[in-house]
Amino acid sequence: MKIVKTLEELRTARTHLNAPVGLVPTMGFLHAGHLSLVQCARQDCASVVVSIYVNPTQFGPNEDFAAYPRDVDRDLDLLRDAGVNLVWVPTEEVMYPHGYQTFVTVEEITQVLEGAMRPTHFRGVTTIVAKLFNAVQPDKAFFGQKDAQQVAVLQQMVRDLNFNLEMVVCPIVREKDGLALSSRNIYLDVDQRKAALVLSRSLRKARELFAAGERDAIKIHQAMDAVFADEPLARSQYISLVDPKTLLDIEKIETEALVSMAVYMGKTRLIDNTILGKPDLTLDQP
Ligand code: AMP
Repeated sequence: MKIVKTLEELRTARTHLNAPVGLVPTMGFLHAGHLSLVQCARQDCASVVVSIYVNPTQFGPNEDFAAYPRDVDRDLDLLRDAGVNLVWVPTEEVMYPHGYQTFVTVEEITQVLEGAMRPTHFRGVTTIVAKLFNAVQPDKAFFGQKDAQQVAVLQQMVRDLNFNLEMVVCPIVREKDGLALSSRNIYLDVDQRKAALVLSRSLRKARELFAAGERDAIKIHQAMDAVFADEPLARSQYISLVDPKTLLDIEKIETEALVSMAVYMGKTRLIDNTILGKPDLTLDQP
């Protein structure tokens, strides 16, 4: 496994990779969710590139950029074991050198859900991912359904800016008890960790109602609110039922609905989602 820092090193190493090349962008502190993307990439591609970069421009002024967990040595061991060919660990000077002033903005679908709560977040995400795509020139890029809106925003960017690559979306990886894996789960204390099951519990409730024939988004929302009412340690910031492509609110579910949420457990903000109308093996299992 080759490890590079600068753009020049990356470009040279890229020329030695067999095609097709798959890219898995990450912010490090890797867990089984990230490694599932690596596995997807290994199945689909001859070479796998992973980037590790905690991107400052996607954090708001009062968010956890400085405190975001980092352990690059451990990450590199995991990636070596996972059979990755090339890891790019750029520094801030490589990504945003002095005088940097170009940003990529996707307009409408970044205004809702996460974008409504974190107004500068997606501008940072699209900018860094565009830079990663330009530098690595992957044939395929792998992202997790865990960040459902991020996937929709990046697919829009790929279409609009004619990036010549295929976006591959991989399912959410959960702990056995249902909690979606996240680098931020490390912030939770024992009680918050138990209480955090309310996210997957409420999503399961939504799926049960949908499976039983309920199509009224307000009724499903109310049932989810009731699940949250029983968990005083959790404060939901939003719960939304939207069209999975446009991300616009829906009242009556015709075919599919993206149910997504952001929830505070103390100071830790967790997100989770499911798509009603599509199988979701990690939530449907008894
Ligand atoms: P991050 O390091 O948080 O920026 O995540 C890097 C990639 O891993 C993104 O495409 C995420 O959607 C994906 N990811 C994070 N958590 C999970 C999870 N629990 N299951 C599947 N993919 C995930």
